Amino acid sequence: MPETTTATATARRLHHIGGEQVEPSGGDFFESHNPATREVLYTAARGDASDVDRAVRAARTAFEDPRWRDLSQTRRGRLLRRLADLIEENAEELARTESLDNGKLLREMRGQLATLPEYYHYYAGLADKIQGDVIPTSDRSVLNYTVREPLGVVGAITPWNSPLTLTTSKLAPALCSGNTMVIKPSEYTSASVLRLAELVEEAGFPPGCVNVVTGFGAEAGQALVDHPGIAKVSFTGSTQTGSRIAANVAGRFLGSTLELGGKSPNIVFGDADVANAAMGVIAGVFAAAGQTCIAGSRVFAHRSVYDELLERVAERAGTIRIGDPLRDDTELGPLAFADQRDKVAGYVDLGRSEGARVLTGGEATDGDGLGGFFYRPTVLVDVHNDMRVVREEIFGPVVAVMPFETEDEVVALANDTEYGLAAGVWTNDLGRAHRMASRLQAGTIWVNTYRAMSPMSPRQGYKSSGVGVEHGQETIKEYTQLKSVWINT
Ligand code: NAD
Repeated sequence: MPETTTATATARRLHHIGGEQVEPSGGDFFESHNPATREVLYTAARGDASDVDRAVRAARTAFEDPRWRDLSQTRRGRLLRRLADLIEENAEELARTESLDNGKLLREMRGQLATLPEYYHYYAGLADKIQGDVIPTSDRSVLNYTVREPLGVVGAITPWNSPLTLTTSKLAPALCSGNTMVIKPSEYTSASVLRLAELVEEAGFPPGCVNVVTGFGAEAGQALVDHPGIAKVSFTGSTQTGSRIAANVAGRFLGSTLELGGKSPNIVFGDADVANAAMGVIAGVFAAAGQTCIAGSRVFAHRSVYDELLERVAERAGTIRIGDPLRDDTELGPLAFADQRDKVAGYVDLGRSEGARVLTGGEATDGDGLGGFFYRPTVLVDVHNDMRVVREEIFGPVVAVMPFETEDEVVALANDTEYGLAAGVWTNDLGRAHRMASRLQAGTIWVNTYRAMSPMSPRQGYKSSGVGVEHGQETIKEYTQLKSVWINT
């Protein structure tokens, strides 16, 4: 947990509620650090239940305000397009803000934010296409039709690894469908989402449509989930927190979308282009220093290419340039905070004690004197599916590589996990590609690529990786209530 403080010397970030910057009711702030250098970047308001209550009320007022409620769908779409343009205009500032806050490479952030406006454009295009059906029931004396109505106030809770992108996956469809929102960003990355809320209003959305309460999960986050005024929780984060939220909302019959953790397999067959697959394995697991839900952290290589793949992966992992995320030539930034670095180190030590061999990496570093929370890209071998390093999400630059002999064997190994977010397959056999796509229990399957993503393409985790869909047209169902109307003619 970041340290709390009552100091006001550093730049202070306040809650964004009802279009205004609002002081925390308890008067407390907490520090946000640059994980590459440990410097304090700013302090953010420590939200509590009364801040959340204020935000939910503001969002409810905005939901019922004719300026929003009666806005035509075409105009809603237009506001989303304006927001897309503002994000594009401010992309460099947003990319730097996020890179400083969570340590992701600025280069990587620029790439990610270049695609962010597409999400708003996509949902802008859908805004005037949300429609119901006329149902031809057998009773000719009645007319039956369905409509899709907005839910109300959506509570959104997001993690620190991609704050703007993951918030957008919720915000764009929620606004497109006519809802309003209260967002609780991660306590490690409050700044970019607060800035996004300002841009939302600059785009012309009425105040209160989007509110941000910063603070800790156990306080502001819990208060948001508990609040009786929300119609839905849309959460992205760990499976552990997601499970607690699921239990809470189930008892209240509240809608929820839960995007959770992963331990994704990346499978290299003997017929694959091994050089290409090795690059895919590297990018699949070490992007964002391994802090992505879709990280391909379990690699299965066919026995015939195991040695070659391992050599290529270990050699590249050992030469990845670690350092300042703001520099263009840096290839790996820090973990987002000290506890995360310690968690990764703890897992590698656990792996060693379980019998794993560290082929490369396996140690923390301060990033050549920067003083931050870096960990070297790590390749583990002599591992098997019963080890905790293979079963549990590490969320760091650590990959476990295992050999296999047959397709049936690797399907069984890959599916032997509580997670099911994504899977990669590297093969030049088209029939095998289709078979694997069908047999793997994961919401997204990539063949001869990894990490491809689009606002147009829906995704949904299998098993403990989540509930509900994000992206694509199907998301509209997640943010609307179906109503069936019968009229006696
Ligand atoms: P986390 O679960 O610790 O926190 C996520 C958010 O939940 C934070 O804002 C936190 O403050 C809040 N929170 C914590 N406890 C809460 C509670 N009791 N009630 C309400 N809110 C609470 O996750 P994290 O460490 O921030 O993020 C990393 C995790 O997110 C990884 O497991 C990763 O796989 C997952 N993730 C999933 C996706 C996806 O799309 N499936 C995307 C990115 C990250």
